[in-house]
Amino acid sequence: MGTMVTSLFLLGAVTACGTDTIQLAADGETDYRIVVADDPSVEVVAAAGELAGFLKQVTGAEFPVIKGSSARSEHQIMVGRSPVLDEIKLPVNWKALGPEGFVIRTVGRKLVIAGGPRRGTINGVYTFLEDIIGCRWYTPKFSVIPHKPTLTLPPLNVQMIPDFDMRWLERNPELDWAARQRLNYFPHDKLIDLKNPKLAGSGHSVRSDHHTLVPDGLLPYAEFDKHPEYFALVKGKRMQKGQPCLTNPGLFDVIIRNAKTWIEHEVAPGRFISISGGDFGNLCECPKCTAVRKKHGWSGGEMLFVNKVAAELEKDYPDLLVDTLAYSFTQSPPADMTMHKNVQIRYCPIHLCYHHAFDECDYNLKKRHPLSTLAGWIDIAPRVCVWYYALPPAQEPLYPYPNINCLSRNFKLMHNAGVKGLMIQNRWYTEQTGGLVELKDYLYVKLLWNPDYDVQKGIEEFCRACYGAAAPQIIAYVKLVNDTETYYPGEPANDSFTTGVPGMHVRIGRRIPIKKSTLVTIKKLFDKAERTVANDAGSLERVKRVKLSLEAAMK
Ligand SMILES: [Zn+2]
Ligand SMILES: [Zn+2]
Repeated sequence: MGTMVTSLFLLGAVTACGTDTIQLAADGETDYRIVVADDPSVEVVAAAGELAGFLKQVTGAEFPVIKGSSARSEHQIMVGRSPVLDEIKLPVNWKALGPEGFVIRTVGRKLVIAGGPRRGTINGVYTFLEDIIGCRWYTPKFSVIPHKPTLTLPPLNVQMIPDFDMRWLERNPELDWAARQRLNYFPHDKLIDLKNPKLAGSGHSVRSDHHTLVPDGLLPYAEFDKHPEYFALVKGKRMQKGQPCLTNPGLFDVIIRNAKTWIEHEVAPGRFISISGGDFGNLCECPKCTAVRKKHGWSGGEMLFVNKVAAELEKDYPDLLVDTLAYSFTQSPPADMTMHKNVQIRYCPIHLCYHHAFDECDYNLKKRHPLSTLAGWIDIAPRVCVWYYALPPAQEPLYPYPNINCLSRNFKLMHNAGVKGLMIQNRWYTEQTGGLVELKDYLYVKLLWNPDYDVQKGIEEFCRACYGAAAPQIIAYVKLVNDTETYYPGEPANDSFTTGVPGMHVRIGRRIPIKKSTLVTIKKLFDKAERTVANDAGSLERVKRVKLSLEAAMK
């Protein structure tokens, strides 16, 4: 976690020291009030509500939320910045916390949880509940909230700024859970739900978040009859399904006009607009476009265009980012160009092996070299994020897919490289859950919040909580799914991209046959797991959900 000035003690690990130890509740009762500003923001109201709700679950006591001007006693939990908080004169550099950083402090008898204006305070509340009190929101349907009618806090002096400022799990089952996991970006189709106060300050794209320079996006088909010259010239013919002729000045005006219409029609202001080509080839072969490619490389035409759009939109929308994809023909950075200061690059390493870390196998290192590509972008762009692929087989989201072992290393590598944020594409266009989907989603959100999160410890904790006495079997199953030896060696896993590179390399969506002998072992594990928790209905139901992936594997 970035810049953490801390004495972050877990409850119980600390003996009372000094007068700063405070008792929030005793035998299910409290004198404490949650104090907010007289005119609190939507985010702070939601933060105070969540804190009161969970503290009631933990202690049994009611924690009323009151306004600062009516606060009288010393027993205050101050949530969010307010004039009464300013009176304490905490030595905090609020500006340095940025929009989402926060402090958690005990001051005399008071507890302070407050942060930056976007989601700092609510991030602080969830961090307090999780790290200090011990609440866990494992899945949207399964939480563990401790029961502590007497609740004493050690002295606290925590300051955190999230390492990634874009934390986005693409397929997201439930928004309250997402808020509690401190995700802060959501797909545009969730826009209506962004009215959920717990998500206040979260970001989203203006309309579609990718592939916008297409006929049903920013470049309407209707333009083709009037202005075929806006479209790709391929083998001497203008065609609709191609990358536009990005050097055409008239096309630039159309894209700006349509982009502004999109922006103006947003219900809530978007954080970025995507200017990115379609998911197909057919680059324009006109002399001007060809010359740009010759000078700046394959991505040169689109990046030059993105820079121009960014400079133009910045005049009216200085806070809006212009996002583009480093994907397909724009995967590698252009030569001899730097990106405008409001451009966000989303690097999309779709062809990597996700069984191994970026620097861990010969296929990634020698054939795809993601780290040097990433470094190349970070050199020339002010802001680089990653579209992280975590995609199981398309039609079988529950089929065992071995991508957990490289997570920890990849997230550290991305953070150390200077990546600002991630979108994790966690499944194809389905909300189907079961198998290891919930566990993986939990690991992904933990890594988005903290790239140093201990994945193995997380797996064990999750399994103990969700599967009770059957945890050893499910932990063993997770390990088996991710072991190379579980799958038939060589060609069945590999495809035209990875053929010829020794070892098993797993690209997105690959369905790798599992050895028959391992299937027998897995079946035995589930049989034992079910027997072990036969009298524990909750754990049994969750074990049966994981077992759905065995059924997918047996098909
Ligand atoms: Zn052209
Ligand atoms: Zn590999």
